[in-house]
Amino acid sequence: MSFIETDLARAFDEGEFYPVFQPVVELRTCQLAGFEVLARWNHKQLGQVAPDEFIPLLEKFGLIDRLSRTILTSAFALPVLAESTLKLAVNISPIQLLGDRLAERIADTARQSGFPLERLVIEITESALLSDLERALDAAQELKALGCKLALDDFGTGYSSLKHLHTLPFDELKVDRSFVNSVVEKRESRKIVAAVLGLGQSLGLTTIAEGVETHEQAQMLLWLGCDFGQGWLFGRPVTADRLEAVVAQDLRVDLTATPVLPSEISPIHLDTIPAERLALLQAIYDGAPVGLCFLDRKMRYMSLNRRLAELNGVPIENHLGKTVEEVIPHIFPLVEPYIRRAMQGEPITGVEIQKPAPASGGERRTLLLSYQPARDEAGEILGVSVAIMDITETKRTEAALRESEDHYRHMMHLSPHVPWVLDTRGHVTEAGSSWERLTGQPITDALGNGWLEMVHPEDVPHTLEAIRHSLNTGQPIDIEYRVRRPSGEWIWMRSRGSPRFGPSGRIVCIYGVVEEVHGQKQTSEELQDSKAALYAAINAVHDGMVLIDAQDCTVSIVNPAAQQILGDAVHAGMTLADYTRLPMTHADGRRMQPSEFPLVRTILRGEPVEAKQVIYKRADGAQVWLLLSTRPIYSEDGQLIGAFSIIRDLDHAVDIRREISALQDESEEDSSKSPLR
Ligand code: C2E
Ligand code: CA
Ligand code: CA
Repeated sequence: MSFIETDLARAFDEGEFYPVFQPVVELRTCQLAGFEVLARWNHKQLGQVAPDEFIPLLEKFGLIDRLSRTILTSAFALPVLAESTLKLAVNISPIQLLGDRLAERIADTARQSGFPLERLVIEITESALLSDLERALDAAQELKALGCKLALDDFGTGYSSLKHLHTLPFDELKVDRSFVNSVVEKRESRKIVAAVLGLGQSLGLTTIAEGVETHEQAQMLLWLGCDFGQGWLFGRPVTADRLEAVVAQDLRVDLTATPVLPSEISPIHLDTIPAERLALLQAIYDGAPVGLCFLDRKMRYMSLNRRLAELNGVPIENHLGKTVEEVIPHIFPLVEPYIRRAMQGEPITGVEIQKPAPASGGERRTLLLSYQPARDEAGEILGVSVAIMDITETKRTEAALRESEDHYRHMMHLSPHVPWVLDTRGHVTEAGSSWERLTGQPITDALGNGWLEMVHPEDVPHTLEAIRHSLNTGQPIDIEYRVRRPSGEWIWMRSRGSPRFGPSGRIVCIYGVVEEVHGQKQTSEELQDSKAALYAAINAVHDGMVLIDAQDCTVSIVNPAAQQILGDAVHAGMTLADYTRLPMTHADGRRMQPSEFPLVRTILRGEPVEAKQVIYKRADGAQVWLLLSTRPIYSEDGQLIGAFSIIRDLDHAVDIRREISALQDESEEDSSKSPLR
């Protein structure tokens, strides 16, 4: 062990690491909203060592998790935090995020003190995301599953920030100190901050400005629409013993006045901003997957990014200096009222508009717009900063998902099994509709403990005991009890279920199914019938459906729609390995590797894949755009027994809709011709 390593371990043992707390304040009301906890090291010989020095060392020697545990344990134990509604933000190193068991460790630490994780914000810097986005996404989702909030820290210091903002489930955006520094003096920087804040808002994120040191900065940020501020103006980091005093004290900062700049600061021109800073800002601006622009008082484009030019279908240079009406005359009437209101000082977010299909072809797009007024030094409106997102795909995906869920539910309805979900109190939160068919009790009445009314009184005690036992021990449930049929007769049922564990190891619910006890149950004829009905349902679905059997990894069902979309290359009986040789590419044109096929992911990991867009090359040479969604299929005892994929031909989605309405018309005609009428 090196000297440093020994010294670090000693420092932990002797309690030299401790947390300090810096206030985070709501700018609009100047009220304390919470604290960011920062680590400190008071070395017995060297005195205070800066975090920027000791954190890399702790990371290097694998001690960084120990630091987080130490400072979080102290923080969670403070009554002034535990017994309030204040939020607590904590910094997490990239190594921690990408390493394993972060969520579990945090849950463990919180469990000891009972601190509610809904009030914990995990701050992540970009570098964690750059190296392994997929791993970061997994970790982020685990943290979200615990209830934690996620913040992107130091926003604006990396190049691909906006991409990450889009991909990861962030709740908060922390605008880096370096932007805040110049927000008062530099007009150009202000425009960018306005655009960034507008962007954050359009993504539904809470925005926090870091390093707020002066009144002027805070006022300007408030005017630009920022939600929260943190910095020396509101308070330096304090130790735990002074926390109570900070919470009790009145902040005495009044930001309601119009921002006024010290007169000696004259507006600085673009060319006085250091070149590298400008290049960085430009890169962030340009790389955004969101259209951004700045309009002056006369609604002329002063700046815009590439994405906006794409959305408008007009080159960047043909925008500059022109008015919105000149550049996009057909859309202008739709957006004019919002721009005008923003020019009057009203921030407008979350406006959804339908952009008509261009005359040159293409489809109608759905756009999400937000308009943020920007003011100059004297508080006069300088113009409006605009953020535009194309949410056509999202809308379509949502619709496709809703439909595939419907298919799934339909299939469940045909099944003689009744799936159920119990919460951690042992109450039924969901049950399959076949329960109603079986017992006559409506599902809404069966929820909670209502279903017990249909259970034979003699069987209730051991049934409840089995549930309690499973919740306490994590053991599966396997019991039999009698239920009353609508005819009054009692039939024996078998109910099996297994607890589902969250990342923290705690049970989150129990999934299970109940079915009639075999023998007494369906005749083989009836079984055959329900199987036939299942096939009929799958065959009637207008989307392609492919089912994979997990046991032998072969394709067991290909419905006619799938056959039509994929061609003869796909058939029942083919192996999964053959299936992954199909010529599929990602939306960006990259050939899909076998492990990247959604069905493979689902069968290997049991995870659903939501609406993935791919390009498929049919044997006849035609290229088709497909939307793939997959779902795992579990048996009653929780085994993964298969997976199915729903395949939607995006090119033909429109034709299908037409076909369905034609079919509906036909069947109406049919029934009017029916002799029974
Ligand atoms: P950070 O997350 O950006 O934390 C904010 C830093 O800005 C803190 O520095 C804080 O003292 C400083 N600061 C706050 N207000 C102002 C202001 O108005 N003006 C100026 N000039 N500075 C201000 P600190 O405490 O030295 O921390 C430095 C960095 O060390 C943090 O940056 C964070 O990335 C990291 N860090 C701190 N504690 C931890 C920890 O427990 N775990 C990990 N992984 N990293 C930590
Ligand atoms: Ca931070
Ligand atoms: Ca920061």
